[in-house]
Amino acid sequence: MKYAEFVKLYDALASTTSKIKKTEILARFLEKIEEDDLLEKSILLIMGTVFPPWSEEEIGVATKLTIRAVSRAYGVSESEIEAKWKEKGDLGLIVEELASRRKQVTLFRQELSVDKVFENLKKAAQLEGGGSQERKIMLISELLIHASPAEAKYIVRTVLGDLRVGVAEGIIRDGIAKAYFTDVIWEALLTQPYGDGKKRYDALFEEKGKMVWVEKSAYISLERMSSLKFQEFLKNNDVKIVGKEEIEKLDVLWKKKSNVDILILSSAEKGSEMKQKIIDLLERAYALTNDLALVAKVAKNEGEDGLKRVKLILFRPIRVMLAQRAYSVREAFDMVGRPAALEYKYDGFRVQIHKDGDKVKIFTRRLEDVTKQFPDVVEAVRKHVTAKRCVIEGETIGYDKETKKWLPFQKISRRIKRKYEIEKMAKEIPVMTNLFDIVYLEGELTIDLPFRKRRELLKSIIKEEPYVMVLAKQLITDKDEEAQRFFEEALDLGNEGVMFKNLDAVYKPGSRVGYMVKLKTTLETLDLVIVGAEWGEGKRSGWLTSYILACRDEDTGELLTVGKMSTGLKEKSEEGTTYEEMTNLLKPLIIKEKGKEVEVMPQVVVEVSYEEIQKSPHYTSGYALRFPRFVRLRADKSVEEIDTLGRIEHLYTIQRHRSG
Ligand code: AMP
Repeated sequence: MKYAEFVKLYDALASTTSKIKKTEILARFLEKIEEDDLLEKSILLIMGTVFPPWSEEEIGVATKLTIRAVSRAYGVSESEIEAKWKEKGDLGLIVEELASRRKQVTLFRQELSVDKVFENLKKAAQLEGGGSQERKIMLISELLIHASPAEAKYIVRTVLGDLRVGVAEGIIRDGIAKAYFTDVIWEALLTQPYGDGKKRYDALFEEKGKMVWVEKSAYISLERMSSLKFQEFLKNNDVKIVGKEEIEKLDVLWKKKSNVDILILSSAEKGSEMKQKIIDLLERAYALTNDLALVAKVAKNEGEDGLKRVKLILFRPIRVMLAQRAYSVREAFDMVGRPAALEYKYDGFRVQIHKDGDKVKIFTRRLEDVTKQFPDVVEAVRKHVTAKRCVIEGETIGYDKETKKWLPFQKISRRIKRKYEIEKMAKEIPVMTNLFDIVYLEGELTIDLPFRKRRELLKSIIKEEPYVMVLAKQLITDKDEEAQRFFEEALDLGNEGVMFKNLDAVYKPGSRVGYMVKLKTTLETLDLVIVGAEWGEGKRSGWLTSYILACRDEDTGELLTVGKMSTGLKEKSEEGTTYEEMTNLLKPLIIKEKGKEVEVMPQVVVEVSYEEIQKSPHYTSGYALRFPRFVRLRADKSVEEIDTLGRIEHLYTIQRHRSG
């Protein structure tokens, strides 16, 4: 395939911000690819790399070298390129301009292929040792010499790891689903917006040459949506009306086998259930292998069965299961059920330990290999884990060697980054590991076993030794008071809080499902003012259901946005404020309305809890609250008394010391 075609894909993806559109564009592109090798390369290039994330290799060509390669290709001085870059902030755009200004469009210009680009980038990344810098420059400038302006732009962006086409993993996953599996649509979805001011059915009616199954009642509604276009649609596609029994029988959605491209159902529930099955399978395969290119290949060639067969590969980290958050003991129980397993939430860093005999590797939650930095943990695994082959998870925490008290995370965070004098550091800040889960044992995945059983298995392969390697401290209870006592005990010992775990739940790699719920000391809440809102949809239509929050710049008095809140209010009036009440408060304050969004006079002050403060360019304060949640109305507070930007900055700095 020509690289130029790839550039068209990048441009198309970058031209829209609609996720649905991007998914569609990607799916259409993937569908056309026949060869596996090209498919794998394509997925990686769409992710802006030539290496899968599990691999420790990265393109990682230094910016200095890239500039030199650009300079070499276009005969422009490095300092000029650097100056321009500072001005524009995107070397890709500068290179595009340089390439289009080039006078002698070289006679010997060859059209670049995807293979050529891929191989050169890969080689450039892998070169090491004497003279490697020069050869890296050559490999990149060789590409640039032959590249069209648009190609040059994307080559440079890929080299720098900054593709800017707005495609995250979720979109690639959905694109793979759409390319290889029956697209399941349901009636209610058909009238939903579908990018570019279109509705889903508009896009559907434009389809050609597809095998379409439509459930009877949905057929009637489709006809009503636009009878003319529907007639066209019938002409252009092979449309079959089906009943419930036929749909029941359609248990394989892999297009190669089902031969159904599009299935239109009347029930949203059934539809989303079918769709979710495929997404879950793709997610699982991705979480286990960390390789979307492989997932795409399996989806294309083997469908559902193949995805089910995907296995973990020892020493390739898998994506871990994440926790949701609760704000009270009762809420935590509501989320995981009673009785639940409660465990200390240690304030360290998560380790995923892979073991095969004496070979041990340790990965962080971000899948970084930290084996070298923790020889003491490796030793502990060899001594205290009796299984031959396994993947287990735990939290490694530091303790004071004299007092034996557990230390807060920032003390050991230094060890994670350490490159030199590792042994010395290990003596100074000893660590211990508290194990809490097992995902693989002696050749078998254990993720589909209930947590209760996994904990038993884990216990059976660990010889505990205090201050070296132990099982996470656990209490199984169904009582609020006992849980509260355990929580306080955990805090007294210097933990962050407790985890509540559903005893019957499986391990869902890579997802933040509510099988594991954290309860921490509540962060200080913020008092903020609502400056905008959005009208809800579906059963929430008629209410303003998400709210733009702002804090105050103490210097200028200006209101600066910090996030958008849509949880914590009630649908029905039980206890607490409902969406309806909030809508009634805000409606008279509306000053501007655009589509679903409204701007309101800043008068309603609310108390808001949140998970974390992040830096963010999306809000005028420069910060965004993660998961902001309504706590209560603060009718007693005026806009002048709300929290300031300074306070948010302060909270952000404190919190940064905790997270790793
Ligand atoms: P958070 O980072 O706040 O989302 O909380 C989840 C993290 O808590 C996990 O990724 C672990 O690193 C950590 N953690 C500490 N103790 C436990 C435990 N007993 N079970 C599960 N996770 C734990």
